Amino acid sequence: MKIPFARPYLTGNEQKYINDILTNIRNGAQTSGDGPYGKKCEQFMEEKFGARKVLLTTSCTSALEMATFLIGIKPGDEVIMPSFTFVSTANPVVMAGGIPVFVDIDPDTLNIDPEKIEEAITPRTRAIYPVHYAGVSCAMDEIMSLAKKHDLWVVEDAAQGVGARYKGKYLGTIGDFGCYSFHETKNITCGEGGALVINRDDPKLVERAEIIREKGTDRSKFHRGQVDKYTWVDIGSSYVISEILSAFLLAQLEALDEINLKRMDVWNEYAERLRQFEASGIIRLPVIPDYAEHNAHIFYILFQDQDA
Ligand SMILES: *Cc1c(COP(=O)(O)O)cnc(C)c1O
Repeated sequence: MKIPFARPYLTGNEQKYINDILTNIRNGAQTSGDGPYGKKCEQFMEEKFGARKVLLTTSCTSALEMATFLIGIKPGDEVIMPSFTFVSTANPVVMAGGIPVFVDIDPDTLNIDPEKIEEAITPRTRAIYPVHYAGVSCAMDEIMSLAKKHDLWVVEDAAQGVGARYKGKYLGTIGDFGCYSFHETKNITCGEGGALVINRDDPKLVERAEIIREKGTDRSKFHRGQVDKYTWVDIGSSYVISEILSAFLLAQLEALDEINLKRMDVWNEYAERLRQFEASGIIRLPVIPDYAEHNAHIFYILFQDQDA
């Protein structure tokens, strides 16, 4: 039997919204990014999650790259992150010449252990990149107070945490930046996609994020009529997602709660049926702390080490 790793849930509106673009293409319907569907996606997330500013990106990896550019990680700068994560948390730091400093995880949640963060802080530490593994929140109060004490940036890798919460707050809206993934394997998808959430109340930061996302140009200002032509003003790359994918994504976002509830039913079913094996000590089931409302992103089980 072949068990698929992830099967995207379709709401039915993906095709409808994409067809809307395709049938209106001769009348000027936009296919490049930042069109009406893209704006609707960003607005949806800002309202639903209570996020100050959301910018759609081509992936969570690009959102993490943008955050790393915005912080201004320089050669030799250190960024603290969990030792157990996906490559995209570390890659942007290495690309900027920085040093990922891996901190061990809490055996209960498999998230970065806040008690081990402080001993990893040096005069070169600039930021902490916590990862909400399986959509279960990290201990954010502890992480945010360490960041405040040592004047560090916090970038939440919330790739797996879309729609999940920490003490009632949506993941991705707690640190200075939050990064979401809409890859096929995540709860909400458009094939490949992501978003950068900017939580600091700093218009200059938002302005620079828009520039970095538009290949280092002030094209976003040009589209708003704030400059009469656009030009190269900073570093940047091509991080804007196509309008066609945004249309697909809007259909998914509108069904966010429905999709996560369906996943929760499956998650609970696994938990119920596997509990007997935990009772007999063969496996360990996920531990969900009181502060976390997860989104059923992954149901994982832990086995004993072979030599234990
Ligand atoms: C999936 C994932 C990413 C990368 O997301 P993309 O949208 O594919 O770039 C980054 N971090 C974590 C923890 C992930 O699970």
